[in-house]
Amino acid sequence: MNVLVCIKQVPDNAVVPKLDAATNRVVKDGVETMVSPFDLNAVEAGLKLVEEHGGEVSVLSVGDDSCKTTLRIGLSMGAAKAYLVNDPALEDSDTWATSYTLAKAIKSIGEFDVILCGKQAIDDDAGQVGAGIAEQLGISQITYVNEIKEVTADTLTAKRVSPAGEEVVEAKLPVLLTCEKSLNEPRYPTLKRTRMANRAEIPVMDCAAIGADAAKVGKNSPSAIKKLYTPAPRQSGELIKGEAEEIGKIAVQKLVEQKII
Ligand SMILES: Cc1cc2nc3c(=O)[nH]c(=O)nc-3n(C[C@H](O)[C@H](O)[C@H](O)COP(=O)(O)OP(=O)(O)OC[C@H]3O[C@@H](n4cnc5c(N)ncnc54)[C@H](O)[C@@H]3O)c2cc1C
Repeated sequence: MNVLVCIKQVPDNAVVPKLDAATNRVVKDGVETMVSPFDLNAVEAGLKLVEEHGGEVSVLSVGDDSCKTTLRIGLSMGAAKAYLVNDPALEDSDTWATSYTLAKAIKSIGEFDVILCGKQAIDDDAGQVGAGIAEQLGISQITYVNEIKEVTADTLTAKRVSPAGEEVVEAKLPVLLTCEKSLNEPRYPTLKRTRMANRAEIPVMDCAAIGADAAKVGKNSPSAIKKLYTPAPRQSGELIKGEAEEIGKIAVQKLVEQKII
C-alpha cells in the first residue's frame, strides 16, 4: 500500500499572528513554524496503514525552502520519502491553485492507494485543499475521518464526523481522507530516525517538473483576498447590581430601549 501525506508548514500557534494590511497577508517572515497539527494525525494514520498492510509513506509540501524542516518531521516520524514543490510562481496561490499544484505533484510522483490530508490547516483554516485534491485527481474522498475501520484490496471504510453525528463510509481505492485530531495520537520521532531525516535528500520540484501551468497559480489564482483584518474586540457586557426585582426592571427597560423586546 502506497500512502502519500500532504503536510503544511504553518506559523507556530504560540505566536500571535500579525497582519500586513498592505499585502492582505499574515506576516510569516521571521516567525517560528510548525507542522499543522492535523497533518501529524495524517502522518500517523499513514504509518499505521503501512505497518498493517505493507508499503511506504511519502510526505509532500508546497512552500518555500524552509518547508524542508516540516518534511523532515514527517521523515523522522517514519515516512520513507519526502518531496517539496517550490516555485516563485506559486506565491499568492489560493486554495484552488494549492489543490491543483498538490494534485499535479502527486500525479508526477507516482501511484498512491491512499492520500491523507489534515482536516484543515491551522493558519488559513480553509479546510478545502484535501477535497480539492481529490476532485482534481478524480478519486473518492472521505472527509473529517476519526476512525479507519477496514481496508481491503479495493476499498477503505472509515468513520467520519458530520454535523448530524457520525457516518461510516466505504470508498473505492484510491481514496483521499482528511483527518481529525481524534483519529489517533501522533508518535514522537526517534533519535535514530531524526538523524536519518536530517541527512535525507529532499527533491525539490518546480511547476514545470510537475506539469503545472504557472498561468493558473499564484497571482493568477481564481480568487483574491480583498481585505484581511482582526475583528474589533467585543465590548464587555454591563453588570447590573441590586435586588432581584430592581435588576429585572432595569434589564427589561434596557432591552426595550435597544428595541430587542
Ligand atoms: C488570493 C489568495 C492568496 C493567498 N496567498 C498566500 C500567500 O501568498 N502565502 C500563503 O502562505 N498563503 C496564501 N494564501 C492562503 C493559501 O491559499 C492557503 O494557505 C492554501 O491554499 C491552503 O489553504 P489552507 O491553509 O486553509 O488549507 P486547508 O484547506 O485548511 O488545508 C487542508 C489540508 O490540505 C493540505 N495542505 C494545504 N496546504 C498545503 C501545502 N501548502 N502543502 C502541503 N499540504 C497542504 C494539508 O494536509 C492541510 O491539512 C492565499 C489565499 C488566497 C485566497
